[in-house]
Amino acid sequence: MLADMHTHSNASPDADRAAEIVLMAEKAEELGLAALTVTDHCECNYWLPESETEYPEYRKSDSIMFGSRDYAIRSIEKTFELKERYPVLRVGTELGQMMQAPGIAAAVAGDERLDFILGSLHMSADRPDFYYMEYNKMDSSEISRMLSDYFLEELECCRNADFDVLAHLTYPLRFIEGDYGIKCDLAPFGEIIKEIFRALIDRGLGLEINTKGLRTKYGRPMPPQELLKLYRQLGGEIITLGSDAHSVKDIGLGLAECAEIASAAGFRYTAVYEKRKPRFIRL
Ligand SMILES: [Zn+2]
Ligand SMILES: [Zn+2]
Repeated sequence: MLADMHTHSNASPDADRAAEIVLMAEKAEELGLAALTVTDHCECNYWLPESETEYPEYRKSDSIMFGSRDYAIRSIEKTFELKERYPVLRVGTELGQMMQAPGIAAAVAGDERLDFILGSLHMSADRPDFYYMEYNKMDSSEISRMLSDYFLEELECCRNADFDVLAHLTYPLRFIEGDYGIKCDLAPFGEIIKEIFRALIDRGLGLEINTKGLRTKYGRPMPPQELLKLYRQLGGEIITLGSDAHSVKDIGLGLAECAEIASAAGFRYTAVYEKRKPRFIRL
């Protein structure tokens, strides 16, 4: 039995409008998952009421705007309410850009209804989401500088922020390598990545294996197996599996495959969180 610890309902503005939490819970039961954690986006740097959300890319469509305060709160409320009826559900959130708005990050993390907090970074300060950048218009030194800023900010989050598990460590590579086919050498960031793993381990936090990379041109989990091995070698024990589904049909995708990748990297257990405490499931 595996758990899907990273999923989005229609309370995430970039998710399928039909992704009702009830339907997600039913799908999780049908798949026999040990747990399904709803982790809708809470972009700390866009903590605005829905009416004031400024996210130009999403402004193009009236129905979706990103990261607003109202969305994040609605998701936590709804999931918490449904948990009694669907015991498979766990209340989570995906806290983005925690160090860019630390007060907001801390306030959301203090919500006692939360079972689980994913920490993530979709954009560096004053830059757009990695999803939107045009890497073919950049030279390799610019990409390298951007990646360096990204990993340094991840490290700052891992040392300081209140969360449980670090989401999709190699997020920018999904676009740079996957969508644009630009090969990235991570060797120059090896020391920073080791520091990220050490910070997670020292603080009793975990690392996510995000299966979404497998469903994209990137074709690998985030992070890929060699980094999972490194985390394990440094003493990392806590991992969670997450599909990062943005629709009901994607729930659970890639979990079994990533469980095998985790096993081959030396992990024996994966974690499920309840009231922000890990419980371990044998792989
Ligand atoms: Zn994310
Ligand atoms: Zn996500």
